[in-house]
Amino acid sequence: MNQLQVLKEYFGYDSFRSGQQEVVDALLKGRDVLAVMPTGAGKSICFQVPALLLPGITLVISPLISLMQDQVRELVEAGVPAAYLNSALTDAQYAHALRNAAAGKYKIIYVAPERLLTERFLAFVRRVQISLVAVDEAHCVSQWGQDFRPGYLQITQFTAGLDVRPTLAAFTATATETVKADIVRLLELKNPCEVVTGFDRENLFYEVRRPHSKKDELLKLLTRFPEESGIVYCSTRKAVEDVCTFLNDQGHPAARYHAGLTQEERQKNQEDFLYDRVAIMVATNAFGMGIDKSNVRFVIHFNMPKDLESYYQEAGRAGRDGAPAQCILLYNGQDVRTNKFLIEHGSDSGDALDEQTRQEVRKKDLERLRQMTFYSTTQRCLRHFILHYFDEKSPAFCNACGNCSAASEKRDITVDAQKILCCIRRTGERYGASLITSVLRGEDTERVRDLRLDKQSTYGALSALSQREVRERIQWLLESGCLCCSDGEYPTLSLGTAAPEVLFHGKTVQMRTVKTEQKLAAPKRQRPGSEIVHPELFERLRALRKKIAAKQSVPAYVVFTDATLRAMSEFMPTTEREMVGKVTGVGEKKLRRYGQQFLDCIQEYKSEMNNI
Ligand code: ADP
Repeated sequence: MNQLQVLKEYFGYDSFRSGQQEVVDALLKGRDVLAVMPTGAGKSICFQVPALLLPGITLVISPLISLMQDQVRELVEAGVPAAYLNSALTDAQYAHALRNAAAGKYKIIYVAPERLLTERFLAFVRRVQISLVAVDEAHCVSQWGQDFRPGYLQITQFTAGLDVRPTLAAFTATATETVKADIVRLLELKNPCEVVTGFDRENLFYEVRRPHSKKDELLKLLTRFPEESGIVYCSTRKAVEDVCTFLNDQGHPAARYHAGLTQEERQKNQEDFLYDRVAIMVATNAFGMGIDKSNVRFVIHFNMPKDLESYYQEAGRAGRDGAPAQCILLYNGQDVRTNKFLIEHGSDSGDALDEQTRQEVRKKDLERLRQMTFYSTTQRCLRHFILHYFDEKSPAFCNACGNCSAASEKRDITVDAQKILCCIRRTGERYGASLITSVLRGEDTERVRDLRLDKQSTYGALSALSQREVRERIQWLLESGCLCCSDGEYPTLSLGTAAPEVLFHGKTVQMRTVKTEQKLAAPKRQRPGSEIVHPELFERLRALRKKIAAKQSVPAYVVFTDATLRAMSEFMPTTEREMVGKVTGVGEKKLRRYGQQFLDCIQEYKSEMNNI
């Protein structure tokens, strides 16, 4: 079999997605790989396809037990011989799995990093051929990443101890240069083929809302997603408790997840969500890494996260199956203060760092928080903002985010801009946005008086504007290069390279503002192909999937993804051949196992339609 045949037969896909082919080619040739691909891009296929074609065993090192279990379950469902080795197994189960593995019964084995150097595991690997070691969530090796995991530092010692060095493949969704360099260095990747795919997730609709009452807004938003699965992220345990109780009281069954719950409750709530027994999960960021549920249709952030990396990763848990999904952030100013507090007081890996490094990390954290705040308040295209943040070129408007599709107007703010720039220049470019706003608005505060800023000629120059309106303008000027902002705890504003044009050469400044009162109740425009063609049939297929999944005790999306059901309801295949040919995600094993039941359901719907 070749790569494409494996892709079709086991996974039911006709072609590789962007980046996958390159990784598979490199691994099959025995070259190390560093792949940076966003959540949902399809990293697993990159090592699963080679694993089936290479001799011997592929080890997959993965940080989370739940992730391993899900992936193994999906692989077994697809007909791939796979197993996992972690602390969820009893001693007898572990021994049994190792015996099977030594007898060559598995092609893919998932293992926790902490197991690698145990005597038992080492004795096992000495007896078999390990062709490939795939390191999932490879950023866990770096203390600069968000999820540093000391166990990952043992990987090199493990591979170095093998008789024959296997090919190494590292996968992550975190793209910063420091983390990338750490991965290559600490995992000792040899001249790796570096594959970085685009960060754009076309099926995701991004939106930011700044409501007066977040709870009311949340209730309104949920009406967009009847019966759909979704996650509501909160920044603290207390907020999780509060929002979860609120939703349950309001008749929206929701489960909760945070580090303060017992292991049993977390496990139970997570499974209730995975198995679609409860539609909404309210959680802190402790929930998610490794949650493979592909039919999450919305991720709502009740609080703003601390940086865009976290936001992108958490929001990215929506729509992994490629079907349309929405990522909505509810923002207010308190979010910034909470995050600042968390940065100051809640150091995750802080104890392991020396004072100087800790200060540097803190400075970077504050800068990232500032960018996150910009995202939450920008009037520009949200997709463009995210892609730009990750250094990716993209059009200025996507026409498929909350800001692009909300009614907006262009306003000439040249005179206001000149006043702002003048004020910053004349006060010596040494103050931050809030003090500058106070001066421009002519506020009579102690700080303004102490610094004698009320004597400035620009004092009160924008007294007709509200605080928010001045801040909006300052932000616009920051984003358009007229202003710069220093790093650090107390960022100060200074003139940017584009400022002289506006101050001295008559360049006008046009600001686009969203008419908030007209912000849409639901996204007006989705990308083409996002509508469900036969919703009634789709619902029936979903119900059938649920029944089958319950019988087999697997999550529904393991049977077929939402994207596959959408394709079935669109193409309405009537034969097995058509099913495999037209519908993505139906591999040989699943076709044999479930094909007929789904074909019957489609056939029944079709005949009812014909009789109307
Ligand atoms: P990641 O680990 O990058 O977050 P996954 O490996 O979980 O992403 O894949 C996300 C989804 O995309 C899964 O539902 C997977 O089956 C699907 N997928 C992966 N590769 C392809 C492909 N070539 N064609 C269609 N769907 C794919």
